[in-house]
Amino acid sequence: MPSKSKSISIPQFQGEVKGRVIGPEDADYDNARTVFPGGIDRRPAAIVRVADAMDISRVVTLARQGGFELAVRSGGHSAAGHGVTDGGIVIDLAEMRALDIDVDGRTAWAETGLTAIEYSSAAAEHGLATGFGDTGSVGIGGITLGGGVGYLVRKYGLTIDDLLAVDIVTADGSLLRADVESHPDLFWAVRGGGGNFGVATRFKFRLHPVDSIVGGMLLLPATPQIIRSFVAEAEAAPLELSTIANVMPAPPLPFVPADQHGKLSIMALMCFAGPPEAGERAMAPFRALASPVADMLRPMPYPEIYPPDEGGYHPRSAVRTMFLDSVDAATTETIVEHLQASSAMMAVAQLRVLGGAMAEVSPNATAFAHRNRRIMATLAGVYQQPDEAPKHEEWVTRFAAALRNGELAAAYVNFLGDEGEERVREAYPGSTWDRLRTVKTQYDPTNLFRLNQNIPPDGTAS
Ligand SMILES: Cc1cc2nc3c(=O)[nH]c(=O)nc-3n(C[C@H](O)[C@H](O)[C@H](O)COP(=O)(O)OP(=O)(O)OC[C@H]3O[C@@H](n4cnc5c(N)ncnc54)[C@H](O)[C@@H]3O)c2cc1C
Repeated sequence: MPSKSKSISIPQFQGEVKGRVIGPEDADYDNARTVFPGGIDRRPAAIVRVADAMDISRVVTLARQGGFELAVRSGGHSAAGHGVTDGGIVIDLAEMRALDIDVDGRTAWAETGLTAIEYSSAAAEHGLATGFGDTGSVGIGGITLGGGVGYLVRKYGLTIDDLLAVDIVTADGSLLRADVESHPDLFWAVRGGGGNFGVATRFKFRLHPVDSIVGGMLLLPATPQIIRSFVAEAEAAPLELSTIANVMPAPPLPFVPADQHGKLSIMALMCFAGPPEAGERAMAPFRALASPVADMLRPMPYPEIYPPDEGGYHPRSAVRTMFLDSVDAATTETIVEHLQASSAMMAVAQLRVLGGAMAEVSPNATAFAHRNRRIMATLAGVYQQPDEAPKHEEWVTRFAAALRNGELAAAYVNFLGDEGEERVREAYPGSTWDRLRTVKTQYDPTNLFRLNQNIPPDGTAS
């Protein structure tokens, strides 16, 4: 068990690794311990900006031998704040951002400190892409290990469907390569099982020819009928088109007419990965659903689909992840009713129509097993003050229960907050959970990697 009272000699620790060790006395300590979600205020004993796999192996061994809690951080976006520990050691991958693209072979070796936008921008120089999520600053480490649902999900599947191999430092400090032939169980487990099995130092991805896309943002008024029709059109659309429908009050942004501010809207992020004419045709049914409040759909280079990031933005939010198999009249009425009842600064129900390439992979093939679910829903209330948390948590809990309405309880691991083991299990349906525990027991029997959506090894609490 971690001992929070243990101290670390920073100069001594620095002597053990090539990368920089940041301690509480350093001027940039506060900056270095900050993660994306707001309200996380943890003070690690040391943050190590590791330089290479050897550094990672040393830190893993030191943490194991010294009994320190270990946090592993790529882009720092974990909603539960798992990218930082109180009293333990952070392995911060931010300096490990090498990217080696084999243009002819259409593969890339990517170190796990890269962000989605960094990887995508470099690949786009060759007209190539691997799909990640909807936000450029998310780290490729966390998103890949949890699955990866993004703008190319229906055309090319999850991020893990393009993962060909991983180099990983396991709990005993060894550096292994896992792929379909070598350590196949470990390779199965890291494709959805999160950071439970070791520190991924680099990934080998498949790249697809994705030069320009037709996409961007389409803002429509939201009524229960329009939401339902949007989902129906998204399900009927060609697989080149992936959509993210954010049902929310229209924000007071410059492109939103003042009389629409605060009105319930669908802020849809659309991405058609195919020729421009076909893309225009695919957008037509959505544009016809209602007179758009704003229509910013256009041909663009793929990385431009990522909205610009606001540095220094650390939102607090009450979030629930779930899957739905249909969106009927009752569902859309529930969505509208609950969004209108929220007192959050921003309340949103996000609907992502899945299927296509993601559903063509067998649920047993990877630890992400929700392959047959049709729609991923994420509900969130974003707020400012810490004392608002209980009311938004209560709202999101009620909203999720109303929306689930008899559907199988399920979760996407990358959208889980700190919600307890039962919810982690809901990310791993059927036999997946037991199989993950077996692999965990083999590669991390003492649960060194536990500051995550944890899969406990056999012999520990479950
Ligand atoms: C604004 C926002 C938008 C998002 N959009 C999407 C989306 O469209 N699609 C989607 O699928 N997800 C999305 N996510 C969820 C995101 O995929 C997860 O939060 C993911 O865990 C973040 O990865 P990270 O590396 O940035 O986070 P971190 O906090 O650095 O890492 C999260 C966890 O992953 C593990 N981890 C990270 N890197 C490694 C590594 N190299 N080796 C071992 N373990 C590691 C650790 O357990 C760590 O605690 C979004 C999140 C946010 C905040």
